[in-house]
Amino acid sequence: MTIDVFGLLPTELEERLAELGAERYRADQILQALYRQAARALGQVTTIPAALRSRLAAEDFDATLADPVRIVSSEDGQTTKALLSMESGTLIETVLMQYGSEQGKPRNTVCVSTQAGCAMGCVFCATGQMGFERNLSAGEVVRQVMHFERVLQSRGHRVTNLVFMGMGEPLANYNATVKAIRILTDPRALGLGQRRITVSTVGIVRAIERLAEEDLQIGLAISLHAPGNQLRAELVPTAAPRSVDDLLAAASAYERKTGRRVSFEYALIAGVNDDEETATALGALLGPRRAHLNVIPLNPTAGSFARPSRNSVRRFKTILDAAGVNCTIRIEKGVEISAACGQLRTGEGIVSVEAAEPGTQ
Ligand code: SF4
Repeated sequence: MTIDVFGLLPTELEERLAELGAERYRADQILQALYRQAARALGQVTTIPAALRSRLAAEDFDATLADPVRIVSSEDGQTTKALLSMESGTLIETVLMQYGSEQGKPRNTVCVSTQAGCAMGCVFCATGQMGFERNLSAGEVVRQVMHFERVLQSRGHRVTNLVFMGMGEPLANYNATVKAIRILTDPRALGLGQRRITVSTVGIVRAIERLAEEDLQIGLAISLHAPGNQLRAELVPTAAPRSVDDLLAAASAYERKTGRRVSFEYALIAGVNDDEETATALGALLGPRRAHLNVIPLNPTAGSFARPSRNSVRRFKTILDAAGVNCTIRIEKGVEISAACGQLRTGEGIVSVEAAEPGTQ
């Protein structure tokens, strides 16, 4: 069976190498080449002896980064979506967003998928309409980041931030999500800062409680979409068994345990959850928490839901501001290439597709 090196923690790689009789320090040489010098495969790790490279190949260790099936960039070049072929030909999408800066340095954010398709069935989401295909492994999540890390390194840049907001519900693939975070933040591997990672969840209460116990400093964004149970159940049918109150209690517990503020996401849909009454109820719910709310006017998808008018968005924000909610209207980038939130859907929604030149993306 193939051993995916990108799915191993540095300590696990050491153990595997020790089983083959190799010195433990060889692990750091391999990790350095893969994560810092963006080697494309184990065969390119020339700091280890040729005999060990041959042995790893014979034992079916694999760290080959496949070329993307397709890439597409937005007109301003700030958003790039890659369609990647994973184990057994499963296709998933991952997105690089290059805008914003921190301390004078450009921010390069990768948005990863954790599942092929999604079982949560949010009625307004293109991925939800695909249905569920399978969970991705930790290594398959890491590979998405490494795809863009390699592209950025060739231009003298690095991945700086990571969001789990692509296809799938990260907390429904809990073990792989947490393991990928541990690999990507390990200083011996990619070494991303935990505080630069945000996991976005539709709100699986038990998983949020569990995540709070992981001793991680990652950010959590909860997709609320409605202030009340009935409307929420219509928009996010699978979340219905747990109430909005349960969800907010889990968010509070996460904040207490990690010291990180939880933010909330709200897909604003014309005629569904954008009226004054709903805004007032949302303000009453989140105002006392001084919560941060990202309002995302719905992106065009194949469904029958529509994006609200500018006036409606403005009115919604005014009501929330007055209620003391720290409300941001998220201007989505990449909409024209279907790379924005709720638009990821393999094989569809891509308006201008070019075959990728091997090694260019
Ligand atoms: S919004 Fe997220 S959780 Fe809901 S169906 Fe889409 S991908 Fe799944």
